[in-house]
Amino acid sequence: MTEWLKDVEPLTLKGQIAVPYTWWAGETGSRFLVSIRDKRKILGTKCKECGKVFVPPRKNCGRCFTNMEEWVEIADEGVIKAHTIVHYAHPLQPVGPPFAYALIRLDGADVDFLHLIKKDLDKIRNGLRVKAIFSEQRTGHILDIDSFELI
Ligand SMILES: [Zn+2]
Repeated sequence: MTEWLKDVEPLTLKGQIAVPYTWWAGETGSRFLVSIRDKRKILGTKCKECGKVFVPPRKNCGRCFTNMEEWVEIADEGVIKAHTIVHYAHPLQPVGPPFAYALIRLDGADVDFLHLIKKDLDKIRNGLRVKAIFSEQRTGHILDIDSFELI
């Protein structure tokens, strides 16, 4: 160690980096996103062992570890299971505030689907029903479902 460093505290410097990347959505993710983009249909995969339906779809059941090859169409409506309202802006948020992140149990699914609610934030309660609003311009992104709205 250099002599002069013995008598000073170590310094740290804070920084932030942005790393652009392109990541393949994968076979399962691509089929899910293409269905939303081209048909406005939400698909899930069903486990042949336990019968659970996953949305977004997964290639393998996390409970049974079996390969899931059965695709099922899921309703574009469901129930809010949990939510949080976001009041602050952050570069990593998908939209500006205020909005809500909600875990939505779509009809026909056995797991909750994380998405956004942008309207009627003062009326959101767990247990209320919501419906998907699809974007007019769809590009194969999860935000091809613009958000969910209270029914
Ligand atoms: Zn299973």
